[in-house]
Amino acid sequence: MIVLAVESSAHTFGIGIFDGKNKKIVANARDVFSTEQGGMIPTKVAEHHIAVKEKVLAQALKEADLEMKDISLISYTQGPGLAPALLVGRDFAVALAEEHKIKLLGVNHIAAHLEIGLFCTKAKDPIFLFCSGANTQVIVHEDKYRIFGEALSIAVGNALDKFAREIGLGFPGGPKVEALAKKGKYVALPYSVKGMDVDFSGIVTRAVQLYKKGVAKEDLCFSLQETCFAMLIEVTERALAHCEKKEVLLIGGVAANKRFAEMLDAMCSQRGAKAYIVPLMYAGDQGAMIAYQGWLERKREQKEFDINPKWRVDEVSTFWK
Ligand code: ATP
Repeated sequence: MIVLAVESSAHTFGIGIFDGKNKKIVANARDVFSTEQGGMIPTKVAEHHIAVKEKVLAQALKEADLEMKDISLISYTQGPGLAPALLVGRDFAVALAEEHKIKLLGVNHIAAHLEIGLFCTKAKDPIFLFCSGANTQVIVHEDKYRIFGEALSIAVGNALDKFAREIGLGFPGGPKVEALAKKGKYVALPYSVKGMDVDFSGIVTRAVQLYKKGVAKEDLCFSLQETCFAMLIEVTERALAHCEKKEVLLIGGVAANKRFAEMLDAMCSQRGAKAYIVPLMYAGDQGAMIAYQGWLERKREQKEFDINPKWRVDEVSTFWK
C-alpha cells in the first residue's frame, strides 16, 4: 500500500509518500513559509500553502517516481494547528481523494511526530519529549498517550521565535538564537518549573527587557537556551524516574538544536538511560510523518473530513499499537 499525505498545520506545506510494503519513506517534499522580520500570520501562511501546493505535490511524485494512480490511501493533518492553514491541506486532500477515488483519513499531527520518531530511531518505549513551535509536552504511551507535563503558556519553540521576533531576527527564530548563543555568556533569567509543567512566557519578557537595557543579544540567546532547556531536562528526568523508563526520544522542530541534544544526552548518561534524537529531516513538520501515520491507521474508516485545530494527543485512540 502506498500512502500520500498532506501536511499543512503551520508554516510547512508538505507532501510525503510512504511505501507500506517496503516500509520506506519514498518522498518528503515541502515548502516552508518564512519571514525576514515579524512572525507567522495565519492568513499569510494559508496564502503561502495555496500558492505552493501543486508544486510540492509534483515534487513529491517526481521524487518517488510515482503517479496518482499508484496511491491507495491519502492522509492529511486534521489537527492540531492553525485553522486557515489546516483548511488548505484538508481541502487539497479531499479534492485529490475525490478526483482519483482514493480512501482518505485525517490524522493527528502530534501522534505523527511521535510515531515517526519511533520509526526513525531504535527507541522502543521512551519518554517522548516533544518540543515544537506550538507544543511542548512530555508524553508517555500507556493504554493511550498520556501527557505527563507541558508548557503552561507558550511552547519552547514559540518562546525562541517570540524573542527572536522582538529583537528583529525574523522567523523561525530557533536556528538564529542557536547561532548567536554560540558567542554568548550566561546572564540570569527566571527559571519556572511548576510540578511537571514549565512556563516560558516570563523568561521571554525578562530577556526582552534586558535587551532593551543594552544586554548583548548573544548573551541573551545563550541564557535563553540554557534556561529553557534546563527546565525541560528537569521535568523529563522526573518523568524517567517516575515511569521507570530507560529511553527518552526528543522530537519536534526544536530537536534540531545541538545544545539541547547535548544537555539531554548528559542527563540520560548520568541516569543510565539512552537519549534518542529524531533525525533532522523528520524533526520539524513534514508530510512523511503524516503518510506514515496514515499507513499505521490504514484499517480505520472515516466519513467526515473535518479539521480539529485543538486536537490533543491524549484524545487520540492508539488502536494500531
Ligand atoms: P507543531 O509541530 O506543534 O505544529 P510547529 O509546526 O511550529 O509546531 P516544528 O516544525 O516541529 O513546529 O518546529 C518549528 C520550531 O522549531 C520553531 O519554533 C523553530 O524556531 C524551532 N527550531 C527549528 N530549528 C531550531 C534550532 N536549531 N534550535 C531551536 N529551535 C529550533
